[in-house]
Amino acid sequence: MSHSLFISDLHLSHGHPHSTELFLRFAADIAPAAEALYILGDLFEYWAGDDDLDDPFHQQITGTLRGLDAKGTRIFIMHGNRDFLMAKGLAAACNATLLADPTLLDLYGMRTLLTHGDALCTDDVEYQNFRTLVRDNAWQTRFLAQPLAQRKTQIEHLRKQSESQKRGKEMSLMDVNCDAVNELLRQHRYPRLIHGHTHRPAKHLHHLDDHTCERWVLGDWDHKANALRCDSSGISWEVIPS
Ligand code: MN
Repeated sequence: MSHSLFISDLHLSHGHPHSTELFLRFAADIAPAAEALYILGDLFEYWAGDDDLDDPFHQQITGTLRGLDAKGTRIFIMHGNRDFLMAKGLAAACNATLLADPTLLDLYGMRTLLTHGDALCTDDVEYQNFRTLVRDNAWQTRFLAQPLAQRKTQIEHLRKQSESQKRGKEMSLMDVNCDAVNELLRQHRYPRLIHGHTHRPAKHLHHLDDHTCERWVLGDWDHKANALRCDSSGISWEVIPS
């Protein structure tokens, strides 16, 4: 039966050899059987701009995705909160299609909404302000005008700052806001929802306005691979040998 796979929050970088190894194994053994692979944000720990594509580590990852496409698995990539600067160059290097956040699809006859998930964490006002700032075109143009090395230094500094801020934040602040989820489901006329970002893999049911919507949350790849499989019979966790 043809099926599609969903992953997110791999946070691939030089500094994470374990998740890289999990991803390469997943790409070799699991993903080729799928007709499509959807990467719902935070494929990379961070993305400083498409002029960083020559980096040998990035070449390895984009080459792996291009290889999957060549074997018949279409690749779709959505921005996460870490790799929101991925642009046409990255997509071309992977032979991938960049997806807007959110994207509504017909998946094997079922309306399904895909989102990274960070936009739903509305309780974290500080983060939402930052998100609005860095998603602004003028901000991005100014940021990308700086030399690559300088951008990387700035991002690494920001990441350290955000890690220490996160430690001071309540766990509930960093989960999705239920009203924001319900609002998104209403806007899109009660689809099934798949997202990542919170690193809390689960299946939730949202009962609202006489509808019941499934919300599937992907996990991160820090310790083990994590993927959802979707076919005409529904969604399930893909079993990945560790
Ligand atoms: Mn994220």
